[in-house]
Amino acid sequence: MQNEKQCKKCQQNLKLNLFKVDSRLKSGYSSTCKQCHASLEAHKKKEGYRKPYKYDPVNGLASSRKWRANNRDKDRAKANRRRCYLKQATPPWADEAKIKEIYKQAAVLNLSVDHIIPLSNKNVCGLNVHQNLQIIPLKDNLQKSNKFDWQES
Ligand SMILES: [Zn+2]
Repeated sequence: MQNEKQCKKCQQNLKLNLFKVDSRLKSGYSSTCKQCHASLEAHKKKEGYRKPYKYDPVNGLASSRKWRANNRDKDRAKANRRRCYLKQATPPWADEAKIKEIYKQAAVLNLSVDHIIPLSNKNVCGLNVHQNLQIIPLKDNLQKSNKFDWQES
């Protein structure tokens, strides 16, 4: 029985116990050794990290517009996700006329509609109902993002 395996990453022949067990694979073991796997994961984590969005008072919306122009696919995915959230977050008893009215009002005032309790937050999930909507300046909405200080007393 073969008890050594070559790591795809470092090309070393190593004992099988140095590979992670992966039942999805034919060999039963991960193709990279534990050590390489760990460093790969650490790298992914680092790469995947994105700074939370902050409103830039100097460039204003220009910076986010620029990001959108360079990341059209991501932007579309984001819009899609948002549509999903909205659908999920809208209960059957939501008063759509009232919701529309708030959005209309905000458009007239050139302000933005904010969910008082964010629709997607680690701790809470707000609802897309008129009771959870408020009209605020666009700038505030961007700054608030999905933060919701639910522990605040
Ligand atoms: Zn390796």
